Amino acid sequence: MRELKEVQGIVFKRRKYKDTDLIVKIMTKNNGIISLIVKGAMRPKSKLNAATLNFSYGTYVIYTSGHGLSSLRTYKEVKQLDGIYDDLIKNAYASFILDLIDHAFVEYQSIGKYYDLADFAIHKINEGVDPEIITQIVQMQLLTAFGVQPELHRCLICKKAEGIFDYSIKLGGIICSDHFNDVQSRLYLKPKQTALLRTMGLVPIERLGKISLQSETKLATRKAIDRIYRETIDLNLKTKKFLDEMKFFS
Ligand SMILES: [Zn+2]
Repeated sequence: MRELKEVQGIVFKRRKYKDTDLIVKIMTKNNGIISLIVKGAMRPKSKLNAATLNFSYGTYVIYTSGHGLSSLRTYKEVKQLDGIYDDLIKNAYASFILDLIDHAFVEYQSIGKYYDLADFAIHKINEGVDPEIITQIVQMQLLTAFGVQPELHRCLICKKAEGIFDYSIKLGGIICSDHFNDVQSRLYLKPKQTALLRTMGLVPIERLGKISLQSETKLATRKAIDRIYRETIDLNLKTKKFLDEMKFFS
């Protein structure tokens, strides 16, 4: 049964569909990720067009049966994240973050706390907080949503919670320096780099963006996180390739 529903969400993908229609993807707070037909959006005077640009967010009124394609009827309060919309680099990071969350869930599946994570992350990027750090934090926190539960609290072998640590993808978490000689599969990170991975994976989202880093450290954790994703999830996202091609660090 189809019903009218008010949803709060963020538009993050759109493509043309038939003559003047669009299909947009919206990440919602309580109803998961939804594909919406926006009828007549490409007509010159359509108000729905402006309300469904990428990174628009607010309250949308949709007609939905809880599966398949829903349709957009109207909208209430909708705002734009202009800082992201107008900036190629911020746009690339924010697109990757939302694409990544999109791939961790099926449509209409509740995304729970990850909505707040996405919302917070893109607002921080919009405000000008270092998008590289924000993205790494999201990636570390999203591992759980992909079913990868890295142990970041204590050493996988002896359960020690304090000391010097490295990360092993094969073992799935941190190991302390007592076992460095025994574990060949570790990433050979510097202690402060592993410490950063732990912080990024464990930090509450309200503290997002309070970390500032040297580019050498950021690059090391970037490489480590990329390897963790490649070797445990292997998504191969276009948005990630695009980000990498921008070569911010070269
Ligand atoms: Zn240990």
